[in-house]
Amino acid sequence: MPRPFPHRHLLGIEQLSRDDILQILDEAEPWIGFGRGRRKQDQRLAGLTQFNVFFENSTRTLFSFEVAGKRLGAQVANFHAIGSSVQKGESLIDTALTLDAMRPDVMVIRHSETGAPHQVAEVVGCPVVNAGDGTGEHPTQALLDALTMRRRKGRIEGLRVAICGDIRHSRVAGSNMKLLPKLGAALRLVGPPALLPDDTGGIPAFTNLDEGIEGADVVMMLRIQRERMEASVSGSLQDFHARYGLTRARLERSAAPDAIVMHPGPMNRGVEIDGELADDPERSAILEQVETGVAVRMAVLDLLTRDRR
Ligand code: ASP
Repeated sequence: MPRPFPHRHLLGIEQLSRDDILQILDEAEPWIGFGRGRRKQDQRLAGLTQFNVFFENSTRTLFSFEVAGKRLGAQVANFHAIGSSVQKGESLIDTALTLDAMRPDVMVIRHSETGAPHQVAEVVGCPVVNAGDGTGEHPTQALLDALTMRRRKGRIEGLRVAICGDIRHSRVAGSNMKLLPKLGAALRLVGPPALLPDDTGGIPAFTNLDEGIEGADVVMMLRIQRERMEASVSGSLQDFHARYGLTRARLERSAAPDAIVMHPGPMNRGVEIDGELADDPERSAILEQVETGVAVRMAVLDLLTRDRR
């Protein structure tokens, strides 16, 4: 008898216990092998309708949720705000209620406003998954990051993880800062002072990249979120690369000898990370993160829709 999952929605990491997180990771793990097989068709969501409701651009996340739902047999419909009545001034809640009237069984939502999926979850009749809200959270990204680390390193407990770059505006950092300590990883944040959060929640912060990644087992690089900052905050990209760009030389000089590099994408090659390092399959787990992402999203969709089947 599988453990019942005690949450109706997946809106953030805060609400999840260590056991909830481990349950998602454990249930995701077999979907990786499934995805490598020839016939990738499970029917457990057959007859259910999944809406992917994206008010903000996405490459990986939208497609990954679509692939995940389809592999489980769901009928997946994608709603893009661009080209919709959102551009005619329809409010978030009116849009959500309109979509809800079509009776979806799960809604996956991305929005540029922090807290938008929480507002939608209050008014709709189905589970809601946060696929990234403003500078808030991106819970499935942190879950897939954790599963990738566990597969690469065999554990998360005791791992030294440095999250580097634009932490302040990153919802990926926001979710990882909540998730990784719950699983016993030792976190550090690294970035220019203007891109570090005002409150790090007790996580040590560094403004020097070499010092910040010293001895790290995992170095997670983040893109500068230009769309979420005042133009004045961002200096030149060359300057940023010189001080905060991860190169092979830097990694080998400072991090643990077998350190791996991660990035949630989209990558800006030559800015926060050197392309040559990102492409090295020994060091870089970036494409593995994408593969793991489908498996994690399958587990989440399965867990949240169990009482509808
Ligand atoms: N794709 C991730 C997100 O949506 C990271 C990023 O955009 O930099 O938050």
